[in-house]
Amino acid sequence: MLDITDTTETTNEIASETPPARTDLLGLTFTEMSEWVQGLGQPAFRARQLAGWIYQSLAPDFAAMRTLPAALREQLQRTATIEGPRVQAELAAKDGRTRKLLLELADGRRIETVLMLYPATSEGRARATVCVSTQAGCAYGCTFCATGQMGFDRHLSPGEIVAQVVYFARELRARPWQAPDGQTIDHITNLVFMGMGEPLHNYDNTLKALRILNMPEGLNIGARHMTVSTVGLVPGILRLAEEPLQVNLAISLHAPNDAMRLRTMPVTRKYPIAAVLDACRQYAARTNRQVTFEYVLLAGVNDQPEHARELATLLAPLRQLCHVNLIPVNATSASYRPPSGETIRIFRDELRAGGVSNSVRAERGDDIAAACGQLHTREARKHAAAE
Ligand code: SF4
Repeated sequence: MLDITDTTETTNEIASETPPARTDLLGLTFTEMSEWVQGLGQPAFRARQLAGWIYQSLAPDFAAMRTLPAALREQLQRTATIEGPRVQAELAAKDGRTRKLLLELADGRRIETVLMLYPATSEGRARATVCVSTQAGCAYGCTFCATGQMGFDRHLSPGEIVAQVVYFARELRARPWQAPDGQTIDHITNLVFMGMGEPLHNYDNTLKALRILNMPEGLNIGARHMTVSTVGLVPGILRLAEEPLQVNLAISLHAPNDAMRLRTMPVTRKYPIAAVLDACRQYAARTNRQVTFEYVLLAGVNDQPEHARELATLLAPLRQLCHVNLIPVNATSASYRPPSGETIRIFRDELRAGGVSNSVRAERGDDIAAACGQLHTREARKHAAAE
């Protein structure tokens, strides 16, 4: 496990990545793809055809790309890939609205990706959201998180991040979801970078993946439908504020003061809450975007009325610019329990009385170990038991 005090948050340790033998086309922007295609001696328009096959037709392989000359298809087969990681395990929640994959990367490391299907509400249409991983393991060691207990392995490349979304895009195209309101959802509508890893620790690759997923020649997912979630890496937040891509920012806060936060989130030692909130203020001012604060409710730890009042006071200067997402901890967590419905109701009332808008996000798919890292841990234990 990395010593997080030695971590340079917004740089990439790309040297630790295993270079792919073939060019991963899912990791290229359209400009890069055009240059690469022309490097093969092909006319520039072939790049548009190729991107169309990959992202609009969602072709599973080069053989399916019928409008490309046979010789080019054969050349692509030898020199490039659009395959993405291998699915090692897949679980679907009983309600059929949450599907989780354990993916094996080319070097054998494993990550998780989740598809969550949401029916329409009074606030919006039905959605298909992919929860994306950005690293294998994580350096930040939050105590309530299974990934945090694994330690850091390596950053994911842009192609490995994009491939997680492309996998579910292909699945939904092949088998669209009939939402309860009769809407047919056959494409990915939203992305949350909340899977394994800290996205801003892998800043460059995360940003490149966001651009690829957002580009009109790609899946064309709107930046406002993408959320990057961070434990509060201040340099990364300030850097993100300067990007032309206006994605949503979510902060994993989980406590109303540093002393309590430090008990579950060691990163607080390096970036105290005041510094994180100051960066959020700058982010909101620069981008005009609201910041969401994620708050995992842990019974008996951070769920009392006085904690809600302290949280409301803390966020008072950001009141117009923020929203709090309360998340009762996943019932499968080994060390923590979710609070009762009554405790949650009181907590919400206190926040509301303090002028802080909030909502409760139900953890999805308890029956399939939906919190990040849990499927990985479960499979690892199974393998260990079998050896
Ligand atoms: S919650 Fe996020 S940052 Fe914390 S250990 Fe888990 S993956 Fe890492």
